[in-house]
Amino acid sequence: MVEPSVAIRLRGLTRRFGDVVAVNGVDLDVMDGEFLTLLGPSGSGKTTVLRMIAGFERPDAGTIELAGADVTQVPPFARDVNTVFQDYALFPHMTVQKNVEYGLKVKKVPSSDRKLRAQEALEAVRLDGYGDRAPSQLSGGQRQRVALARALVNRPKVLLLDEPLGALDLKLREQMQVELKEIQRQVGITFVFVTHDQDEALTMSDRIAVFNKGDIAQLGTPSEVYEHPSSSFVAGFVGTSNLLESEAAQAVLGRPGTWSVRPEKIRVLSVEETVGEGQHSVRGTVREVVYVGMSTRFVIDLAVGGSLVAVRQNSDMSTDLAHLRGEAVQLAWDSRHEYQVTD
Ligand code: ATP
Repeated sequence: MVEPSVAIRLRGLTRRFGDVVAVNGVDLDVMDGEFLTLLGPSGSGKTTVLRMIAGFERPDAGTIELAGADVTQVPPFARDVNTVFQDYALFPHMTVQKNVEYGLKVKKVPSSDRKLRAQEALEAVRLDGYGDRAPSQLSGGQRQRVALARALVNRPKVLLLDEPLGALDLKLREQMQVELKEIQRQVGITFVFVTHDQDEALTMSDRIAVFNKGDIAQLGTPSEVYEHPSSSFVAGFVGTSNLLESEAAQAVLGRPGTWSVRPEKIRVLSVEETVGEGQHSVRGTVREVVYVGMSTRFVIDLAVGGSLVAVRQNSDMSTDLAHLRGEAVQLAWDSRHEYQVTD
């Protein structure tokens, strides 16, 4: 089997703005054809990393390689990357087709070629037949797809996407997440996608780089990052922060340190129920019961201190569990589902 090659290599990438260290020595390899997401809270440095890959921002230190070539000093237009922003301003007076062709026109690609390539790009984003429309005659999701087609038409090696779905409502956003991933798989271009939305990152990515304060806190597949968060920061940012700390950990698990258990791994049982081998259990009192359609979410104050969140699928008829509020219960989970995290 051929080893996948590295599309983007960042080494020691650093950018300061006055006293603010926006990006602090980031090392990262993005593989060819990979969908990699930079996920993190506002101000954690994601956009600055993306802008440095694009060449809009110069690093104070470190290097950027694209397909093995050092481009750290290369201007944006000479890099084989394209960027799609959240604010994807299409030209309102031009048809969809002309909008998509525009970049090729600037590059002086002959008209017949332009037409063909724009049509291909529109097909890739499933907008064939929309070429004659004005942007104002499209929905938000369709406009976003035109913006994507405008980038794809240049056939870049790498596509950089900065919160491209941020302006869409939740339903459309979820739909576009699935579509964008499918398009990426089909065209086979390397995508680097910036978002602060953990669900979006988990849905779309081959791997996620979780950013915190200008550096990568954890790099891994969605399930690695979700199931095995390496720190309490990652545990809290990707999913619900469910931690057993110090005395609670010692009392429940018989071990010191900080441990994480995801809410859906925790069962809510009556206090009488016996817990099987390989399970850990803890008693507590139900503080909150929140019905959220598909599931019910419980917040339980533990007898040993601290609290845990448990989620139960509403798969049977009796889903009104509000009466459990204030009740004494027992929480149990398989000990394989607990992971130690650093502070
Ligand atoms: P968001 O999700 O809000 O876009 P982000 O993770 O993309 O956040 P960046 O935009 O990369 O974060 O910003 C990282 C830090 O650098 C922030 O503290 C920000 O205020 C600062 N910063 C970014 N650009 C500039 C600039 N041009 N001038 C001064 N400070 C900046």
